[in-house]
Amino acid sequence: MKIARSIGAILVGGVVLTGCTNFVGAAESNLIPVKDLSQEKLLAMSERTLPSVKMTTNDKLLAEMNTLRSKLVMSQGSSLHKQVAFTFDDGPDTHFTNQVLDILKKEGVPATFFLCGNNVKAHPEVVKRIDQEGHSIGNHSWNHPQLTKKDQATINQQITSTNDVIKNVIGKTPTLFRPPYGAFNQGVRDKVQQLNMKVILWSVDTLDWNHKSKDQIMEAYHKEFKPGGIILQHSSGNEGLKETVKALPEMIRDLKSKGYSFVTVDKLIGIKAYQ
Ligand SMILES: [Zn+2]
Repeated sequence: MKIARSIGAILVGGVVLTGCTNFVGAAESNLIPVKDLSQEKLLAMSERTLPSVKMTTNDKLLAEMNTLRSKLVMSQGSSLHKQVAFTFDDGPDTHFTNQVLDILKKEGVPATFFLCGNNVKAHPEVVKRIDQEGHSIGNHSWNHPQLTKKDQATINQQITSTNDVIKNVIGKTPTLFRPPYGAFNQGVRDKVQQLNMKVILWSVDTLDWNHKSKDQIMEAYHKEFKPGGIILQHSSGNEGLKETVKALPEMIRDLKSKGYSFVTVDKLIGIKAYQ
């Protein structure tokens, strides 16, 4: 039995797992793309057939990233990566969104903004700023309805019109979709899949839209955050978001002190932010 570690591959019961070519197979004619195997399957193959060879952290990460990429709906990245993705919903406006952008710029932190189409139309200059400063832009519907209460035509229109207005402003069509209130059904799934997009939820809900204090926002963050986390905050809404702006530098400081790197959601899950 051969163990080809030097090229990032392992031989498991006559099957080669390789991080280089992304294929699994005993012979070239019998190759199975790694992306077609779930993380559970890869781990089971490793542990069942070759107990003496443990998958390295890199092997596990590769398998986990492949599993993530194959999903339509996700709420966090790999727990093996010390990464975090900030997300800011409902913008842009010309007040809080710019304050959030100022902090992110000062701290050198990229984030993902899930924007509503009507706000994109009203404040294109802020959308351009978000894009130019290296953040990713996702679709958060046109005007924030609960899509599960809408018919298919409305669901389709809410998603496509927002993609269109974002493309008009930055020249790129998003792949990331966050449904308002995190509410989605088969109709939403179907449209998202048809448009080659992903449903992005979150693993930490700061509830900052609901008039939380800076300390309450930090408490939610400390309680819920784990490696690979996607943190939900808002960059447009009521005056309570001044607390989001206060909490943000403190959250960034805490994550930096713990050695986390900040990434956009697309990087966290290993896909492209735009079509
Ligand atoms: Zn929202």
